[in-house]
Amino acid sequence: MMIDLSRRQLLQRTAVVGAFAALSSNSALAQLTRAPRLIPWHNWSGGQSCLPLARLAPNDLDDLVQVIRQASGKIRPVGSAHSFSALVPTDGTIVSLSNFTGLLEHDSNSLQAEFGAGTPMSQMGPVLKDVGQALQNMADIDYQTLAGAISTSTHGTGKGFTSYSGFVTGLQLVTAQGEVLECDATRNAEVFNAARVSLGALGVVTKVRMQNRAPYRLRERQWIAKTEELLEDLEKNTRENQHWEMLVLPHSDYALSTALNETSDQETPPIDLAEANGNQFATIVEKLDKYGSDFPEARRMLLNSLRFIADFKDRVGESFQIYPSARTLRFNEMEYSVPAEHGPACLREIIKLIDEQDLRTWFPLEYRYVKADNIPLSMFEGRDSCSISVHQHYQMDHHNYFAAVEPIFWKYGGRPHWGKLHTLNARNLEQVYPRWQEFARVRQALDPGGKFINAHLSSIFGVA
Ligand SMILES: Cc1cc2nc3c(=O)[nH]c(=O)nc-3n(C[C@H](O)[C@H](O)[C@H](O)COP(=O)(O)OP(=O)(O)OC[C@H]3O[C@@H](n4cnc5c(N)ncnc54)[C@H](O)[C@@H]3O)c2cc1C
Repeated sequence: MMIDLSRRQLLQRTAVVGAFAALSSNSALAQLTRAPRLIPWHNWSGGQSCLPLARLAPNDLDDLVQVIRQASGKIRPVGSAHSFSALVPTDGTIVSLSNFTGLLEHDSNSLQAEFGAGTPMSQMGPVLKDVGQALQNMADIDYQTLAGAISTSTHGTGKGFTSYSGFVTGLQLVTAQGEVLECDATRNAEVFNAARVSLGALGVVTKVRMQNRAPYRLRERQWIAKTEELLEDLEKNTRENQHWEMLVLPHSDYALSTALNETSDQETPPIDLAEANGNQFATIVEKLDKYGSDFPEARRMLLNSLRFIADFKDRVGESFQIYPSARTLRFNEMEYSVPAEHGPACLREIIKLIDEQDLRTWFPLEYRYVKADNIPLSMFEGRDSCSISVHQHYQMDHHNYFAAVEPIFWKYGGRPHWGKLHTLNARNLEQVYPRWQEFARVRQALDPGGKFINAHLSSIFGVA
């Protein structure tokens, strides 16, 4: 079927080749009009893949506009392919903004800065520091692109901090008709609000302006404690620490607690992130699971005794050096956000289920806080939230585990992270997103023909 489709597309495109002969030979549009060279695509975990008709990286805005106007079939924008869910796969055209990178403008008074939408988050910190700015918070990796991160409401942790999307003050969007829209609180305001978390369903974002702050240093402190004690101390831990989270070790009574706080202390020597505390810890736990899972009581005892060998050293550095970790082990992930007040009960119920059903997993559960925002499709719209995620090593089956846990999230009114695995469709999602119709209206107006809709988005939005 793929071959037939390619031939048909090839014939259609041969007819328009002449019309675009004036374009540079290496423009994305020129590639689109040539015979398709099928290059498979897969995401970071390997759980999603497809064989698109074309994978393009337009050179500039004009090139992108032409690609969107001329591509027959579906178009899906892609960032760094770090989403676990099927947001990107298509047999149409995958468009990367890898040529739309770097700092474009900055304002020292308002501390706002505009970047090309394809800029990897890892490249933003040093550039921002040079112009006296820093991101207000960051996720636990920095491999994402800026547009990819805001499109799924990617977040870090901290009761006082929204996701990245909450810090967006303006963006440029190319619609399905190839129209270029400048969007902010005063220009195309409704589109702006929807496009701050859009799953790439409204068009292609080309520039993003962020509200930043002055550069700062962070101290990272990590310690192991009983999960139940950490849950009892939640109020204190989240009040006293700018950013706090815990990684709960399944089949044990303990969790790794991490606190990040601003400091003026001297930087500690930089470390290889792959060698960082959390990664070494995970490697030991993986080995223990391999030999211990047939002996649950012994496994719990061994895992609990890890606290005696864990030796965590504080790290101090620029904020952008301390927030991200290196994820050296591949995994699949499901994450839901529940109203902050339900976080502890939800987590306790998941831990109980894992123990009672002896669910096969060793990857820690992540427990974080995110502040409410006012973006229709953000997981944090209208409510301070607790985000809880479950992971499974990419070589271990995640289906049974995630299927067992997911109903607990539903019970607490959870909203799935758009970039992570879940099984909800439009009918379910509409119930937990009060401003669902607001987004649906904007999407319908901008893309009535569904040019940016793949199979996954079709199920999420309930459109053909
Ligand atoms: C190891 C790992 C750690 C993670 N840690 C966190 C974390 O700490 N916090 C968290 O919240 N999430 C986390 N995630 C999830 C990740 O941040 C999101 O899935 C994010 O969207 C990935 O960004 P990306 O650049 O890879 O985008 P992709 O996965 O490539 O795309 C994501 C979405 O953005 C859209 N998109 C991309 N570019 C554009 C564009 N230019 N215009 C319009 N739409 C666009 C795509 O169509 C898609 O819908 C993690 C994922 C992994 C694999």
